[in-house]
Amino acid sequence: MVLKCPVSGKSAADATLASSGAVAQCPFASAAAQADPASRDSEADASQSSAKATCPYGFGSRANDEATSEKDGAVCPMGFGSATPKDPLAALQCTRCKALFYDAVKIACGHFFCRSCIADVGDCIMCGADVQDMQPEARLQELVNLYLEVNGDANAFEAKAALPKGTVTQAHPQAHNGSRAEFLEQQALRSLAGGNVAAASQRMGLCRDALLEDASSAGYSPQLCYRLGSVIGVQATLLEQQGQAEEAAEAYRESIAQLKKSPEHTPEVVQAMAVSLNKLGDKQYLGKDLCGAMQYYKEALRVRQDSCKGAEAVPAEALLGLVTSLLKVVDIEQALDDQAAAEEHMQEARSILCRAEEVVPQQGPLWAKYSGLQAFVQQVE
Ligand SMILES: [Zn+2]
Ligand SMILES: [Zn+2]
Repeated sequence: MVLKCPVSGKSAADATLASSGAVAQCPFASAAAQADPASRDSEADASQSSAKATCPYGFGSRANDEATSEKDGAVCPMGFGSATPKDPLAALQCTRCKALFYDAVKIACGHFFCRSCIADVGDCIMCGADVQDMQPEARLQELVNLYLEVNGDANAFEAKAALPKGTVTQAHPQAHNGSRAEFLEQQALRSLAGGNVAAASQRMGLCRDALLEDASSAGYSPQLCYRLGSVIGVQATLLEQQGQAEEAAEAYRESIAQLKKSPEHTPEVVQAMAVSLNKLGDKQYLGKDLCGAMQYYKEALRVRQDSCKGAEAVPAEALLGLVTSLLKVVDIEQALDDQAAAEEHMQEARSILCRAEEVVPQQGPLWAKYSGLQAFVQQVE
């Protein structure tokens, strides 16, 4: 498995550091050792015999694994002392979820993982040793947090983490150059792709904070409101997956509140608002509060109807959104035994579907959605 750098997309094998002769040098070792290549060997020896003095991690090398594991079970996460040193930034990354560490722990064999990434695994995925004795790894987590704080800027990271100049910048001359929110969203998505929901949720939260800062300096544009609303909406879904129902509901409400700040109800803003309202409705529905669910579903329907009012040509996506909202309302009306209202809304859904048929492209996700709704309506008939 090749580790990819979250910033450059390069693998450890591409890293200049790996081929620059600095193979045995731990980048977290003292600046003096880094600055004077001639003294590298003696410094390396010194750091091996008193690893705690030179490596801020306090780790030894793989060469003296056994000696150090007796003391603290440590393996240098940078690969110090091993034949295959890691990319300096890949060292901040969990080998299980392939994203930046979240709640980093060290297990007895000396390998590092996010707590939740190793909690359900019997054997270390790096060396096969029994997973036991999870110790919080504060220094490593602190480095990850610093990296997040500086938006992945390699220069700033070196300075903040008090690492020798060139430790990271040699391998990553190009720092991340997007906005802070983009950077954090990327990191959240990486964690999500790796299955670490807690990490993704925390990083979506940081992304939300970054967007709020953007809003306070540049104001609320429809685009920014849309991003805020969707990021918080995703965060809500992640909270829900972690069983935090109350926090999830609060996040959905906040998502709606941010979307309402948009000076213009663009199709994206309307869609995101309706989705969050429907999620809140679904929660009430699952909690058997049908009237509560109805309020949210109807508000979602109203938001969608308002956005279509006066429009010359309503886009296919908006039409299908309307049908979805109508069917949710019908479902509750039937459950509440209000047959007349249910039939009226069903008729409306059918006629909008007929309009949609003329504008939906006959392939792709919109077509799939249209076909699904059409099949549902026919089945009710
Ligand atoms: Zn992980
Ligand atoms: Zn291990």
